[in-house]
Amino acid sequence: MWDFGIENGVVMTARAIYEANIYGSGGTIGAITTKRQPASTVIDAAGLVVLPGMIDAHVHSRDPGFPDKEDFFHSTRAAAAGGVTTILEMPNSVPAVMDAEALRKRRAYLADRAYVDYGLWGLALATTTSAEFQAMVEEGACGFKFFWGYALDPRTFELVYNPAPGADLLDPPSDGQVLEIFQRVAQTGRVLAVHAENQSVIGTLSRYADKLGYDALVQSRPELTEIMAIHAAIDLAEHTGARLHIVHLGAAEGARIVHAAAERGVQATCETCPQYLTLSDRDYARVGTPMKVYPPIRSEANRQGLVMALKEGLIRLIASDHAPHTAASKKGPLDQIPAGIAGVETLFRLILDMALRGDLELGQVVRYMSEEPARLFGLYPQKGAILPGADADMVLVDLDGSWTVSADKLHSLNPLNPWEGQTLKGDIRATVLRGRVIFQDGSIVGSPGGCFVAPSNGQSSRALISSGSIQEQS
Ligand SMILES: [Zn+2]
Repeated sequence: MWDFGIENGVVMTARAIYEANIYGSGGTIGAITTKRQPASTVIDAAGLVVLPGMIDAHVHSRDPGFPDKEDFFHSTRAAAAGGVTTILEMPNSVPAVMDAEALRKRRAYLADRAYVDYGLWGLALATTTSAEFQAMVEEGACGFKFFWGYALDPRTFELVYNPAPGADLLDPPSDGQVLEIFQRVAQTGRVLAVHAENQSVIGTLSRYADKLGYDALVQSRPELTEIMAIHAAIDLAEHTGARLHIVHLGAAEGARIVHAAAERGVQATCETCPQYLTLSDRDYARVGTPMKVYPPIRSEANRQGLVMALKEGLIRLIASDHAPHTAASKKGPLDQIPAGIAGVETLFRLILDMALRGDLELGQVVRYMSEEPARLFGLYPQKGAILPGADADMVLVDLDGSWTVSADKLHSLNPLNPWEGQTLKGDIRATVLRGRVIFQDGSIVGSPGGCFVAPSNGQSSRALISSGSIQEQS
């Protein structure tokens, strides 16, 4: 007798589509079979597709730290409602995750607030020693985040977007210090996630920009600012052997540069976000300040270039860069309000909509949002797979349904988002975390039961099939 069963669904992975019943116990999948087997609780997935749970590798819940903006309780409920069963949480909490002790404490603090599974990023600072990086790895850091070119608040390690003259700040690291960060993270074997915008060029161009309009914002942060930083990051990764991952890519050309580097053997990947794939500067007149993110959302041609790069497989994953701010703080002059939007709950729904409109294949959605992030961060095949032995994380989708983005339905503390009112194709009927339903028919189910997850360095702690093929067990 299995603990749970998901019957009559159509299973869809990055590679295959087939009708099957899925059974399991103890939180993992035990059998994938066309036969019926006895189970204590059964979900009828007739008419639905069953996908592996989505993984959002880029979430800023900032908990503990900024309780007016977001907290883990709300961000992980939003994840559950958005078909996301694992989030990788960014390190800019207060205190920041800059050493092993901070990571251990944050992991414990978040444990009873998590509705979905979570991994934790460590912060890469110029002052972080090799030993400190290694200690964070041993505590389970999924990788390290480097906010290149930003001055940081010395207390909160929050990015300082508009430094006041003479403010007491941690200066951005020099090129030599950046090299050391790459070297030290390379020694750990973990991913180095890089915010790639050349802040010096942005500083210069901002002086000339008329600061009032959206065009001025984009002109002060042209594609060049990302391209310059990406080229430099690739050179550093090539020289040091670091596993470079460019986060929130906004410049389409960057995808080709990263892919070309990977083709010649550099360990380089990139991610983009729904905001860059679904919006362009044309939308600003309609959406207004909730659209402000860094890098900025640029031209329609650039958006189409990113969609094309995704179709061609040049971009390895899609993440949300979920970073809500209060509605009040998003009002004001464009150059003074913070960058960042709520996105974890709409991440999968927006990309599913793209697929159902023909912009992407459904298999690619699974690849970029579940399998690839699991592989990149050493979680595969515990995560990112529907296979015997894998965690029973799944999302049940009605491809014929639809869903309208509405802040009053979203679960984030500050659900302000640039897609308000849009009706998206497809609907999430249920989200399953380790065999347990956590979201069904519009409502969160149960209490927080998410677990901490850490990279396994390619060695799964569970006995898993090695070939990746489907095997039946009974
Ligand atoms: Zn971010």
